[in-house]
Amino acid sequence: MGSRPAVFIDRDGTLTEEVGYVNHPSRLRLLPRSAEAVRRLNQAGVAAVVATNQAGVARGYFSEEVLHAVNAALVGQLKEAGAHLDGLYVCLHHPSEGEPPYRAACDCRKPQPGLLLRAARELGLDLAASTMVGDKASDLEPGRRVGARAVLVLTGYGLGEWEYRRRHFAVPPDHVAGDLLDAVEWALGGDRS
Ligand SMILES: [Mg+2]
Ligand SMILES: [Zn+2]
Repeated sequence: MGSRPAVFIDRDGTLTEEVGYVNHPSRLRLLPRSAEAVRRLNQAGVAAVVATNQAGVARGYFSEEVLHAVNAALVGQLKEAGAHLDGLYVCLHHPSEGEPPYRAACDCRKPQPGLLLRAARELGLDLAASTMVGDKASDLEPGRRVGARAVLVLTGYGLGEWEYRRRHFAVPPDHVAGDLLDAVEWALGGDRS
């Protein structure tokens, strides 16, 4: 295992607006303070790594080419704002929808931890010093399973998840943050109370 801490960031509802399936780059919108959050990580030397489920590929709602165009738009919008991602990891699978190879019982669809483990191997990350941030209960589990901290943001599905579904969470969050910037400040701050 490596030595660099990371903040793993869910895409839809956490880094960008939750708008349903993002089947065109024009549907992608950064949340207001996301670029600043990523810049903070860049300045702190903490890896900023997106970990996202995109089962729309398995379901046939959009192609892998469209997914790549959308992610390129994301990288471009962040770059314009002086922020950069150290990695972008995507699960394209669904256990029961679509056709192989996308219909698969993979190990990377969150809540499974495969995306985080792959990023750690490829980028030399210290998972025990890392944090996973997302807007759903299924984002918290992979963080906990790799020994990282897990933060729920209240953007996207987060507010509804927290207000109405938290008693069903398999893993309670270590922290609940208003948005990604608040989550990053908590992750960097050492205030783990
Ligand atoms: Mg999300
Ligand atoms: Zn997968």
